[in-house]
Order: sequence, then structure tokens, then C-alpha cells
Amino acid sequence: MSNRKKLKKLPQEVVNQIAAGEVIERPASVVKELVDNSIDAEATEITIKLRDGGISLVEVSDNGVGIPEGDLAEVFTAHTTTKLESFDDLNTLMSMGFRGEALSTIVAVSNVSMTSKYEDEDIAHKVEFNSPDDYKVTGAARESGTVVTVENIFDNVPVRKKFLKTAQTEYRNILNTLTPYFIIYPNIHWQLFKDGKKVVDLESTSSKAGKIDKERVNQVVKQDFVERMESVFFDGNGMQISGLVAHPSDHMSRTKYQYIFVNGRHVWDNGIAKSVFQAYDRYIPHGKKVPFILNIQIKPELVDVNVHPRKEEVKFLNPYRVYSSVEQAVSKSIEKLVSYKNIPEKESFEGVNRDYRKKLNHYESGRRDINFSRGGSIKDSLKFSRAALEKTFQPSFFENIHKSDSNEQDFTEQVKEEVIAFHQMFNKYIIVEFKESIWVIDQHAAAERITFEKLSKATEVENTDTQNLLVGTKIKVDDASEEFVKENIELFNNLGFNIDIVDGKLNIKSVPVEFVQADIEKLIKEVLELDIDELKKDLDRLKKDIIATMACHTSVRSGQNLGRDEMKNLYTKLLECENPYSCPHGRPIVWKMGIEEIDSKFDRTY
Ligand code: ADP
Ligand code: MG
Repeated sequence: MSNRKKLKKLPQEVVNQIAAGEVIERPASVVKELVDNSIDAEATEITIKLRDGGISLVEVSDNGVGIPEGDLAEVFTAHTTTKLESFDDLNTLMSMGFRGEALSTIVAVSNVSMTSKYEDEDIAHKVEFNSPDDYKVTGAARESGTVVTVENIFDNVPVRKKFLKTAQTEYRNILNTLTPYFIIYPNIHWQLFKDGKKVVDLESTSSKAGKIDKERVNQVVKQDFVERMESVFFDGNGMQISGLVAHPSDHMSRTKYQYIFVNGRHVWDNGIAKSVFQAYDRYIPHGKKVPFILNIQIKPELVDVNVHPRKEEVKFLNPYRVYSSVEQAVSKSIEKLVSYKNIPEKESFEGVNRDYRKKLNHYESGRRDINFSRGGSIKDSLKFSRAALEKTFQPSFFENIHKSDSNEQDFTEQVKEEVIAFHQMFNKYIIVEFKESIWVIDQHAAAERITFEKLSKATEVENTDTQNLLVGTKIKVDDASEEFVKENIELFNNLGFNIDIVDGKLNIKSVPVEFVQADIEKLIKEVLELDIDELKKDLDRLKKDIIATMACHTSVRSGQNLGRDEMKNLYTKLLECENPYSCPHGRPIVWKMGIEEIDSKFDRTY
């Protein structure tokens, strides 16, 4: 005889409570579901009240369309929804959810009442539940919209109640749940009350739902980096990507301030996050993170939003297309950020940036009587819009910015003149002394950046200064590496590496001048150690990675003593770089310290 127990069907009540666990896990899930419903009801004002981190009370009220009296109790039964019948309607699919589960599960695990004033009815009504099928509906006073009151969550489900954390933790969970809504719905006036105290009050802005509004983000995130964020825009591959990404200098270790929205819904997707960080690859130290906020608007048929019980993940029909679009979009914004004019104030080129802004305001406020040294006045081409202005400033920021000064000096010239002396420290850093500040430059990182940019250009224009090696370097390589070099021989040639392949050996006959003193064997081996199979999928990245690896072997090393001319040369070339700000591996190259800062260390005020 087997000990097997008799097969039984679970009572419906238990089934409901189990199901509830998937959708409603904690007070934060109640908040999420209720807020979703208010948004779907087209509310422009949503107020959330919490007691004990939502454990004893969650109340969400809105000014949405409301619910007709006849539906008031009905909406609490499983699988009732007003959102599914118009499945073909795009707006419907865009709604926050259409599974008709939320209210029925909430009522299964807590005490619920709801008051609603339907827009086409004269008075409001209230439904109160004692248990899921014991309720009464009465007339009530309410001007518009709906309020749902959820008390004592999981009181009737002790196993679940046990898993709730402290009120403080549950509250934090709720805040984390709400924050993305605050960001993606700048059109909604949000208020949050915690134990009777108003803790959030975000007036609606003029931006539409889904528009990532910097002002709103500032109010929500309250961090300095927001000011320095650059907007993202991409339109193609059946999607639009918009949002904000951080300046590379604002990298951090924490995985915080990273928000992904798909069609306005907050989700997490590792692939998207990875694509963002790939775009930052060259600009931030390995393994660091950056804040970003992206909203991906994609045709509903290309994404499945209902793969997760709490709708926290999505499935793309063609993930690779989404990921490469994200990377492209973010790269474009980073490029804008790292141009000289955008080096942030807290960082190295402090004065430059401030000057630039001052000038920008100056132009924008309509002063047109500015003469530029070369080509005279450009006022006609300057429409005084930021876009036009930036275009004018495009060729070289350094070259243009000071042209407006009365001394009519080219900025690069001026910087060169201003240099009082070059010093070297620890055989590692170059100190450039100006009248009122110093720059500290990491000599190797600077050389790496210079070589990296030079080689990158060399592959485009097919020329670089090369030097023949008296004795060619012979390097033994495996078949796969040999094959790889063969496949990419043109790239190597363009870079200035002349390579013969004989009997499984690479014979390096010439190298770019930067590398004459480098350990060529080590350089080539490091290139061949790159994850080539992975990189092959993206030729552009492959090229960049090869060049970055090579640039690392540039002749100016850390620990090397430099003469004045060498320092000056490095400094001058660095100024000509497109991104003088960080080395190809993302480490910073330069920082600036003002005389005031140094004086203050000595309590000097003069
Ligand atoms: P779903 O949102 O998936 O339809 P719910 O259980 O969350 O399922 O809600 C059931 C129905 O109740 C909704 O389809 C909607 O018609 C109605 N409803 C819920 N909350 C509101 C609200 N705040 N304003 C207007 N209607 C609401
Ligand atoms: Mg819902």
C-alpha cells in the first residue's frame, strides 16, 4: 500500500490566495497595481497615502474617468477587465495591464473599499468588502475619479504576512516602485503621504507622458549628475529611443539610477543595460556604471509585456535589433558629451566650460554685435538658437571660443601662451602650470589617447607614419590567430603594421612610429588575445578594441623621464584630441586644480 495521499482539488479561496502571491507580493505591488489602474483611467492627479509602509494602509486616489455604479463590485471578480475587448486598439495594448487580476487578488488578501464617481453619472458610489463575496454598495460623496483603500494586507494569509519586512523597508520598496512612475509621467501631479506627512509633491509639467523631462528628473533624483545628463534620441528599426544619459565622469559603482522603460512601462532588461554600458566602454573605467534613463517606444507587436506576473520584464521579438539601436543611440549622446564644450564644471576644464556657458547665454540673449577674428562677423549665419550656435562652434571648440574676445586670439594659441612651465612628477605625471591653475596629466594615458585617435584616423585615411624594423619580429601563432591576421591584413596594413605570414609565423616588418620602442611581440599577442569570435560580430568594435590594445603600447610610458619638449608635445597633441578627457580604457587623463583650491589648503586668502 502506498502512502500516497488522496488527490484533492484546492478550495477556490486558497487558489485565489496562491495566485495573489504572484501578483501581490508586498504593499509595493498593491501600490503598483492601483497606480497602473489610475493611469489607465487617464488620471492627471494621483495621490498615494501609506501607513506603516503600506502594511496597514495603502490608499490611491485619482481624478480619472471613474467606474459606473453597475461595475463597481464586478471589477473585483477575477478576470474582469474593461481593457481587453478592444485588443486591437493600440492604446489598449499600451495600457498598464489587461489581465483583470489585480483587484480580485487584492480583495482576496486584504480589506478593501472603493469609491468612484463615473464621469457620466451624477453621484459617486462606494463598495465595501467584508470578504471577496460579501460586500455592499452605497451612494457616496466624491467629485471625480476613484479612490481605493486597502487595509491590513495579508492579515488573512499569515504565511505571507510573515514575509513582510519592517514598515521602513516596505516603505522603501514602495518608493522604489513609485520613482519610475514619477519620472515617466511628468504630466501627472503626484503626491505621496507617509503616516500623515506629505513627502512627495510633484506638480505636473508641460511634458507629455513618456517624455523624460529633465526638470522632473531633477526633482525626483535630486543628484548633481542630472544637470550634466545629455538627451538621447533615436528613430529607426521600428522603434524610438529617448531619454537621458550621464556624463562619463559621473560613473559610479552602484547599480542605481538606471531606468529602462518600454512603451512607458518600467522594466529591467540586462541586455539593454549591457548595451548602454558598451556604449560607455571607452569612456569609463572597466566595471563602472553610469546613470541612465531610457524610454523605448516600440511597436506593440514587437514586444511581449506579459511574460512576467508583475510585468517587470519584457520579451522582444528581435532583441539584437533593440540592443544595437540602444548602443547607437547612447553612443551618439556620449560623443556630444565628451566634446570640449561639455566637459563638466566639476571636472578638469572648469573655466572653459563656464566661459562657454557665459558666451552661450550672451549670444542667446540676443547680442549680435560680436566680431570674429577670421571671416569677420558671422551674425548672419548665427540664428542664436543653441543648435545653430553649436554648429558654428563645431570645427574646434578651442579654436572658436575665444575668437569673440577683443584680443582676437585663437584659444589654442592662448592656452599655449598661458602655460608658464611644464614639470614632471614621479616620472608619471606632467604638471602644466598656468597663471592661476595647474593641470595634472597622466602621461601614459595621454599618449594612449593620442595614439588611439591617430590610429583610428589612420584606418580611415590609410596613412600613418611607419618605420621599418631592421630586424623583423617573428611571432609564432596558432591557426586561428593566423587566420584572423590574414582576414584583417588590410586593417593591420592601414594601421602601419606590415606583416608577412610564413609557416605559422607572423613576420612584422614595419610598425607605426609610436611603437618603435615597444615590445611588438607582446603588443601583437595582446591583440590576438582579444575575444575575437565575440568581436567579429561587430567590426567597428573589433577595430576599436584592436587599436585601444595597441595604443596601450605607445612609447610614452609611465616611469619614463620626459624632457620639456616631449611634455609640450604631448600636451599640445592632447589638446587636439577629440576626447582629451579619458584614455581608451576610460581612465581619466587630466584634472585641474585652481590656485584658490591650493591656497585654501594653506588657509591663505590672498
Ligand atoms: P485590469 O487593470 O487588468 O483591467 P484590474 O483588476 O486592475 O484589472 O481592474 C479591473 C477593472 O477595474 C479595470 O479594467 C477598470 O475597468 C476598472 N478600474 C480599476 N481601477 C480603476 C480606476 N482607478 N479608475 C477607473 N477604472 C478602474
Ligand atoms: Mg489593473
